[in-house]
Amino acid sequence: MPSSRAEISNVAVSPDHYIGGKRVSSATTFEVRSPLDWEWKLADVARGDALTADAAITAAIDAFPEWSALTPVERASHLHQLADLIDETIEELATVECADMAMLLESLQARVIHRGAENFRNYADLSSEYAGRKWSSKGTNNEVQRMPAGPAVIITPWNAPWLLSTWKLAPALAAGNPVILKPAEWSPLSASILADLADRAGLPPGVLNIVQGMGDEVGAALVGDRRVRRISFTGSPETARHIGVAAARNIVPFTAELGGKGPLLVFGDADLEAAAKKAAGQFDDAGQVCLAGTRLLVEASISSDFLELFNRYTDDHVLGDSRNPSTTISPMIHPQHLERVIGFVDRAREAGDTIVRGGERWKEDGLWYEPTLIRPKSNYSEVVQREVFGPVLTYQTFRDEAEAIDLANSTEYGLSGIVYTGSEERAHRVGRSIRAGTVWVNTFLVRDLTAPFGGCGISGIGREGGDYALDFHSDLKTLQISEGSVC
Ligand code: NAD
Repeated sequence: MPSSRAEISNVAVSPDHYIGGKRVSSATTFEVRSPLDWEWKLADVARGDALTADAAITAAIDAFPEWSALTPVERASHLHQLADLIDETIEELATVECADMAMLLESLQARVIHRGAENFRNYADLSSEYAGRKWSSKGTNNEVQRMPAGPAVIITPWNAPWLLSTWKLAPALAAGNPVILKPAEWSPLSASILADLADRAGLPPGVLNIVQGMGDEVGAALVGDRRVRRISFTGSPETARHIGVAAARNIVPFTAELGGKGPLLVFGDADLEAAAKKAAGQFDDAGQVCLAGTRLLVEASISSDFLELFNRYTDDHVLGDSRNPSTTISPMIHPQHLERVIGFVDRAREAGDTIVRGGERWKEDGLWYEPTLIRPKSNYSEVVQREVFGPVLTYQTFRDEAEAIDLANSTEYGLSGIVYTGSEERAHRVGRSIRAGTVWVNTFLVRDLTAPFGGCGISGIGREGGDYALDFHSDLKTLQISEGSVC
């Protein structure tokens, strides 16, 4: 029996699962509150369990023959329709995502929601254009084909829920796989609107299923089900270890996009204004960005000039309500997460690291945390080595390029790196030497959707983006036909 819809700033959102093209409730629910004002309850959302997971996977299996039998071009037309509907629904999606996760409303309206539409368009086009590799050798004509792999489970984190779920759903669907999405329990609501849009786009029932609930309940049931053929996960390394075990048990390929502790290197030959501005920009989204350059590594000879500029740009930040266009730093997602960030800074203080600026809650009655800069006592300080996932940066200096690279590569993570330099040679040399899935030079977060994306070390397994994700969601087959044997 579906529940009544929740009203979020005049947008009606279903709190239920979406399984086999229908809204399905659960006997129990969980409360979702807004980080903008913790007194604001957004919805009581269905709390799925093992039976919910079973129903969603069964619906996906039922949908598999029809969906996988469509040509890529036919599937693409559904995805283009969905993308168009997303673009028509930007205001509603932005309103809900802002209330749910506190991402800045203006950037949701101007870029982020539309980028979700682009994810679907990009994969609709890429999958339609796939020609396979063809060659002849040893008397046979060879051709690589992609076979849809089967039901895919997609598990997403609470930060950037809209962006990350569309980024993962699009290639799975384009490749011919029905999907079961489980959004994070702290920000599950934009996914529910996506279900409405999928319905309107005429996606056959069971092709997109969305289940809500806790990771260790319905999430664990989904990834542990033997009928699932792909698992695509974004979240923390700790959870990836559990999912990896479940995937290994069932021999299911999985990708894991995990946390980061990216270095932001500034060399003496860099445009210091641009570098300092970008460094202060790492506080955007309250630092809840996996790709952020959270370790500032600055050449010693320019350290004081850089710090002066960095402080100036950081002073320009405005903490406030994410719906206000002048706000640049939103509240943190959840009181528990705020406590986690406070814990990191408190332990840094106790361990003898120097809090250069910030280091406190902004106000007692909200979830904001001041933009914080810490000079660690050593490179082994916890705050240097572990992902904080909040508005907390560390500051270290280096004498030369070799030391800069050593420091950059000195954590277990390897998701991203940012380099500021005016030298083309150095850009290539240092860019090559940083162990990370993505390195930006004199820029940040500019990303072509066809480029591979992922991490090294504990930042992840596998690559998403472009053809890489389509290959992941397919079983690749080599078809070999003896030359001259057929006409
Ligand atoms: P998390 O690992 O706690 O949870 C992520 C998702 O996994 C949630 O939906 C959760 O319910 C689910 N989950 C938890 N336990 C599970 C289990 N046993 N089985 C199945 N599912 C389970 O991560 P989070 O706190 O939501 O997100 C923050 C983390 O995500 C940070 O480490 C951040 O860096 C990372 N992240 C990485 C990227 C990337 O692209 N590399 C992007 C965004 C966030």
